[in-house]
Amino acid sequence: MANKKSHSYPSITLADCIACLMCVDVCPTGALDIVTRNGARGFRRYPCLSFADKCVSCAACKFECPTGAIFMKQEVAEAAEEEM
Ligand code: SF4
Ligand code: SF4
Repeated sequence: MANKKSHSYPSITLADCIACLMCVDVCPTGALDIVTRNGARGFRRYPCLSFADKCVSCAACKFECPTGAIFMKQEVAEAAEEEM
């Protein structure tokens, strides 16, 4: 028998990101990291969900983002119950 657990994660659209890093600052758990990459706005430091296991799905990053670059993506994980 399967036990369903749902968890939503932020998804960042780099094309809309102005690299302000406010989302990284507001995250209460440190789930977002900063990575340097050559994105739509050139070579900058962009946010990245490097530590997804720390994300508590609070959506603070989404609401803090001034450009709407973050949306919450629902992921459904199924964990099978162990039968003894
Ligand atoms: S949803 Fe909350 S915990 Fe997850 S990355 Fe965004 S601010 Fe951090
Ligand atoms: S708050 Fe939005 S615009 Fe600023 S770095 Fe995060 S995703 Fe990019």
